[in-house]
Amino acid sequence: MATVLMQEMTWPAFADHMKRGTPVLVPVGATEQHGYHMPLGVDAYLPTAVSTGIAKAVGAIVAPTINYGYKSQPKMGGGPAFPGTTSFDASTLISAVRDVLRDLIRHGARKIAVINGHYENQMFTIEAIELVRRDAAMLGVTDLTIFRCEYWDFTRKDLLAKLFPAGFPGYDLEHAAILETSMMLHVRPDLVDMARLANDPPAKFPPYETFPVRDGWVPPSGVLSPAGTADAEKGRLLMENYVEDIGAALRKEFALA
Ligand code: ZN
Ligand code: MN
Repeated sequence: MATVLMQEMTWPAFADHMKRGTPVLVPVGATEQHGYHMPLGVDAYLPTAVSTGIAKAVGAIVAPTINYGYKSQPKMGGGPAFPGTTSFDASTLISAVRDVLRDLIRHGARKIAVINGHYENQMFTIEAIELVRRDAAMLGVTDLTIFRCEYWDFTRKDLLAKLFPAGFPGYDLEHAAILETSMMLHVRPDLVDMARLANDPPAKFPPYETFPVRDGWVPPSGVLSPAGTADAEKGRLLMENYVEDIGAALRKEFALA
């Protein structure tokens, strides 16, 4: 089967996709700690895997992932103190996403989906899209549709209830926990070491931030909720859920067959 990854295509193969109006998915990730048991690339691997699954299902292609994201925040990613957590300033992230989208539009892409895998990126990917829409309008492009989401917002209620029988802690506190660990066990089991999973209690934060963050707010491992019940089967169910439901949303919004 022909590849869906832009990086693996020749320029004529890519040009052919642009001629046919193929949608382009742009995964946006981060380089951020994910506990003792998972690598720094989780927030990039997961939206890339989700995007690749969707692309195969709906006949789209996937642009190279943006592997850095906005600054890790203690309450949702553990914060910047962990060795290896390496982030863009907001203006850099906005520029990176805007530049990539503008060039894809220049090549002929008119259906573009930004698939975000790092909580802190949300508003900055929106700003990039707002600016690129203005760029496109000034270039006289009038038939552009851009879709954007955090993939986890598509988690079905019944699946969430099944995965969290004791109650769902929220997507912010789910950092390096059951959802991400299960998906990594499905997508890249070679990069997960469950023997090293920390057994920290759930992180507790006050309803404000301090800069610098106070000692004791972030568990030493960087995992913000217990992840002991993560497994590859849960990851498979989540991946299936995201590919089906984000795929259906793209079919609808891009008017695909
Ligand atoms: Zn993450
Ligand atoms: Mn993150």
